[in-house]
Amino acid sequence: MSSTGQEPSIFTRIAAREVPATIVAETERIIAFTDIAPQAPVHVVITPKTSEYSNVVELAAGDPGLLTELIEVADAVAARLSNGQFRLVFNTGASVGQTVFHVHAHLLAPQAAGGTLG
Ligand code: 5GP
Repeated sequence: MSSTGQEPSIFTRIAAREVPATIVAETERIIAFTDIAPQAPVHVVITPKTSEYSNVVELAAGDPGLLTELIEVADAVAARLSNGQFRLVFNTGASVGQTVFHVHAHLLAPQAAGGTLG
């Protein structure tokens, strides 16, 4: 349990190395790892390591600098694993498919020749 009395999210547990994942990028406050059920040749989840914001609207209002950092990580991951071009999807709400209520972006992109997810 966290100090708020809530269970840590699956992404918090990945960031803490309690749950294994293929981590492709990390900064002090952001972690990026391959999605367990990829929907594109490159499908990376990019998320703050802590879960105080449940969606991108809350993140933008509460910590716009952290949202900027998340987008910079997306750009760097796409430059390394793809061709620098990418879709960034923030599901916001259960009715559009959000299942993990810890803000995260899906980076979806083609895989670059020679790109590796490991
Ligand atoms: P959402 O549907 O909330 O926008 O996205 C959650 C994403 O997290 C899904 O694409 C799902 O496949 C991914 N996911 C859920 N649990 C895990 C996990 O344990 N490991 C990894 N790598 N991805 C996960």
